[in-house]
Amino acid sequence: TSFAHFSFDEQLMHQIRKSEYTQPTPIQCQGLPIALSGRDMIGIAKTGSGKTAAFIWPMLVHIMDQKELEAGEGPIAIIVCPTRELCQQIHAECKRFGKAYSLRSVAVYGGGSMWEQAKALQEGAEIVVCTPGRLIDHVKKKATSLQRVSYMVFDEADRMFDMGFEYQVRSVASHVRPDRQTLLFSATFRKKIERLARDILVDPIRVVQ
Ligand code: AMP
Repeated sequence: TSFAHFSFDEQLMHQIRKSEYTQPTPIQCQGLPIALSGRDMIGIAKTGSGKTAAFIWPMLVHIMDQKELEAGEGPIAIIVCPTRELCQQIHAECKRFGKAYSLRSVAVYGGGSMWEQAKALQEGAEIVVCTPGRLIDHVKKKATSLQRVSYMVFDEADRMFDMGFEYQVRSVASHVRPDRQTLLFSATFRKKIERLARDILVDPIRVVQ
């Protein structure tokens, strides 16, 4: 498979070429067509597999489709992950690939300044990369609203559960409208993750790295 198979537009292809990726990784080959079709997906994949691009590229396509249709406030896509470091890494990738479309990404995580994050959220962003508890805090304080979110990713779900974030993860999902597209990534597929998937995804397709 080559990148040409996915019918990305010229702006995104340009960014991919600039990254000097020669071909899609296995999780990208399997996952991209599913995510681009709008289906919910479970990706069993580890760091290093190229999973980040597998959810960011379809997210950009999704946002560019929605942006025309829907004015309004708050992010169109949220990416929920366990740690500040991962937030910052994913945020950097969103900026790199989203630059061509002038999309704005904000990272909000526990330990960072609540006030500065709230300010960034209020200035507006199509993409929010977050840890789950901190996102809920901002929603409760009305720094942002999740009413426009229609693409939602949970990355490293098993690690979020290990860190005790199950309640917060479920809470984020409950704040987002049910007709969203949801992608769930996890290195392992244990009972608890299976149960989460059953509760927050609709008819998902599972891909294994
Ligand atoms: P990830 O598993 O998403 O953390 O990605 C691991 C690393 O692989 C990152 O440094 C990416 O920039 C890189 N990467 C992602 N997709 C590809 C690709 N198709 N070819 C080569 N490297 C890639």
